[in-house]
Amino acid sequence: MAKKPIFAPIMSNSTDDLFKNVIAHAKEYGFVFPSSEIYDGLSAVYDYGQNGAELKNNIKTYWWKAMVQMNENIVGIDSAIFMHPKIWKASGHVDGFSDPMIDNKDSKKRYRADQLLEDKIAKYDEEGKTDLAEELQHEMDEALKAENLPRLKELIIQHDITDPIGGSRNWTDVRQFNLMFSTQMGAVADDADVVYLRPETAQGIFVNYLNVQKSGRMKIPFGIAQIGKAFRNEVIARQFIIRMREFEQMEMQFFVRPGTQAEWFDKWKQARLQWHLALGTEPAKYRFHEHTKLAHYADAAFDIEFQFPFGFKEVEGIHSRTDFDLSQHQKFSGKKLQYFDPEINQNYVPYVIETSIGLDRMFLLTMINAYEEEDLSTEEKQDSRTVLRLHPCLAPVKAAIFPLTKKDGLPEKAQEIMSSLKADFNLQYEEKDAIGKRYRRQDAIGTPFCITVDHQTLEDNTVTIRYRDTMQQERVSATDLGSIIGDLVSWRNLLG
Ligand code: ATP
Repeated sequence: MAKKPIFAPIMSNSTDDLFKNVIAHAKEYGFVFPSSEIYDGLSAVYDYGQNGAELKNNIKTYWWKAMVQMNENIVGIDSAIFMHPKIWKASGHVDGFSDPMIDNKDSKKRYRADQLLEDKIAKYDEEGKTDLAEELQHEMDEALKAENLPRLKELIIQHDITDPIGGSRNWTDVRQFNLMFSTQMGAVADDADVVYLRPETAQGIFVNYLNVQKSGRMKIPFGIAQIGKAFRNEVIARQFIIRMREFEQMEMQFFVRPGTQAEWFDKWKQARLQWHLALGTEPAKYRFHEHTKLAHYADAAFDIEFQFPFGFKEVEGIHSRTDFDLSQHQKFSGKKLQYFDPEINQNYVPYVIETSIGLDRMFLLTMINAYEEEDLSTEEKQDSRTVLRLHPCLAPVKAAIFPLTKKDGLPEKAQEIMSSLKADFNLQYEEKDAIGKRYRRQDAIGTPFCITVDHQTLEDNTVTIRYRDTMQQERVSATDLGSIIGDLVSWRNLLG
């Protein structure tokens, strides 16, 4: 009898080619495609394929369940992408949501000035010049805080930063570039009709704060969660789905009594890291990064960073946003956005702790973490497989069902088993190629179970079930499949 299935912990994978291989794999197996590919693509826009859409939905479900379903004081909404243009004036995005950019006059390429400096800091670090790295970091932070654009250019010149493509030092001045996309609403195109594609989902929550609080009879502390698209005209978009112009966020605004924000900030910081770690990722791959330059609305901010093959990068932000947003909307809309707190008999504008995670970055992190090229060679023969060791809850396909051959009534029996399970699980039926090949295809998309229907099935209604990670097989009754699969893909495994 085979051992009980154990889904292996996620392995570290440190090959230099890992990132390149994951991108190629994502395309080959229907996870991520470049947008508009037959027209040569659209810069920094991507489409999710048949397996990518499933994986993405499963990540969303994990987040939604952890935030909304598991917390009685958090509810979820779905607000529109278009919003009243005044919202972006009130939030500070019209005036302040910009990046410092610089052009190289020779290559005609555009860069973010802060990123050029950050790359230089990383280079100093690599070369062991930590004093120089620290000094430049400090000078850059000061210049960014003071919005001193000429100083940013001075630093670029002083540290001899050249165009990463052409190597030229022929730079323009540094200018601010607003990242919001705008379009027109209605038939007549004049200034009054300009609307923006939202650059974050959070404002849709703020402007619905009162609607939700009143209609849901919510008592502080409480949260509002939302998953949705956001759009940013990033100056340079790179690193695959790390920095896109159209992406998706999963955000939660937690409304608290003023004065309690530090305590809640800490709670959410820990809770969100826990959410990541529950997937089985090595803790050493995550770290917190404290913001030195706080956004205009924040009184504390930490990023949760993940160690991608190209270094640690932000996946999620935890921000203490004070009462900035609600107060601004109160001012700009003229509507009171206060809460009467019966416990202290006072009216106030609530303070807000925000957790904001990029779904696409989480998707990439999940793929990178799960991807493994496993050597299966024995003394007799060379062999290998590419396997996605996805957590079973996140796997796009939960089980694949194979008739051993295309005849003798095996396909019909396999289809019958499939019909009895498909209302509960996303399944795939495959009858082409040898079983070994079919296993490999399922390994490559992370399917935790492969079920084979053979001649014995017709006699005693048993099937073989093969486990992705251990590749072990055992014979089980077809009537037990629902509970075997169900136990392993149950959200209880992640949510406790
Ligand atoms: P960065 O510093 O990397 O530009 P940010 O600090 O501007 O990110 P936030 O405004 O805090 O990001 O947005 C919250 C989350 O949304 C980020 O942690 C990230 O995961 C995701 N995100 C932000 N911009 C993009 C983008 N252009 N493409 C994909 N995901 C993004």
